[in-house]
Amino acid sequence: MSFRIGRLAGFQIAVHYSWIFIFFLILLVLSAGYMPINYPGLSSIEYWIIGLIATILLFGSVLFHELCHSIVARKYGLVIARITLFFFGGVSEMTEEPQDPKVELKMAAAGPASSIFLGAAFGLAVYGSSILHLPPQIRAPLDYGFWINIFLAGFNLLPGFPMDGGRILRSAVWLRKHDIVKATRIATNVGIGISYLMIGGGLVLALMGLWANGLWLVFVGLFIKNGAESSLRQTIINKSLLNISIGDIMTRDVKTVTPDMTIEEFITEYLLQFRHEVYPVLSNGDILGLMSIQDAKQIPREQWKTTYVKDIMRPNEKIVMVRPDREAIEAFMKMSRYDVGQVLVVAEGRLLGILTHSDIFQVVKTRTELNL
Ligand SMILES: [Zn+2]
Repeated sequence: MSFRIGRLAGFQIAVHYSWIFIFFLILLVLSAGYMPINYPGLSSIEYWIIGLIATILLFGSVLFHELCHSIVARKYGLVIARITLFFFGGVSEMTEEPQDPKVELKMAAAGPASSIFLGAAFGLAVYGSSILHLPPQIRAPLDYGFWINIFLAGFNLLPGFPMDGGRILRSAVWLRKHDIVKATRIATNVGIGISYLMIGGGLVLALMGLWANGLWLVFVGLFIKNGAESSLRQTIINKSLLNISIGDIMTRDVKTVTPDMTIEEFITEYLLQFRHEVYPVLSNGDILGLMSIQDAKQIPREQWKTTYVKDIMRPNEKIVMVRPDREAIEAFMKMSRYDVGQVLVVAEGRLLGILTHSDIFQVVKTRTELNL
């Protein structure tokens, strides 16, 4: 869903595909609407140039905001996989959540603080340019830079998840109540409340005939609602899996198959006998691949006797392997990142166990129900 554009300050920067569309949309709105209305009397080529500069300023302001979050996170030892920019914000993909509310507070506040700082810098530039009577071609982008950063700070300070203000609220509640899930639930509910207000407000605007503004607000509201809900899910999973190692919850009794077994043998002696979803393929203890019902299904019935496991198994290099002493959350994140349903647990090249997505959800469900 996103593509990489390079590295900055040691972070990998990626852009969500929606940004291409949004970039041209904003360029169009600025060059054909906003700039001509606010700065009349310029030529259309001038509007497109100042529109382009203003669009790049918007992009750069969002990047600066995200970069400041990530720099603070890195200062406290959190690993940022990469920074992905969305249309009016970004996501610093942390491989772990902060374990301390004070760290979370500083990290969350860094974004809006950086936008206020940048907004103030643009504000000074606007002031200077009006004293010096600089032409509108220079004043217009500076003025836009001021407003966009004030908007970024204001929007991100809304006190609900997934906005920075929601994180600030969460860290404050977390600090007082010492319960991250309860704190997340409060920040999430505020976030969902804000999203409903936006969706409702957007529908009212649309009914009043302001279609574009109304739909835009509904769209942003849905985006926030989605983000709030997934943050809550993520927090519950993180908390349930805290201090649990992969070895603690893996399945040890793994049924394995051999590479020279036919598909018929695999189906009748394994798939129909046991309830596992996948079967590692082993030869003399070495892991060669993985077999699942999906692989077997590809083969027409009349070829079951003449096709072998080694012909259709998922090869070794496409299997995600983890060590038993690593944290369970790491296995969960690897499954999402590589889009697989299970990881093999391996030490010194030997298969020790297997951990599936459903195993992890079972653990999360049980521990959540027991309030652990
Ligand atoms: Zn932010």
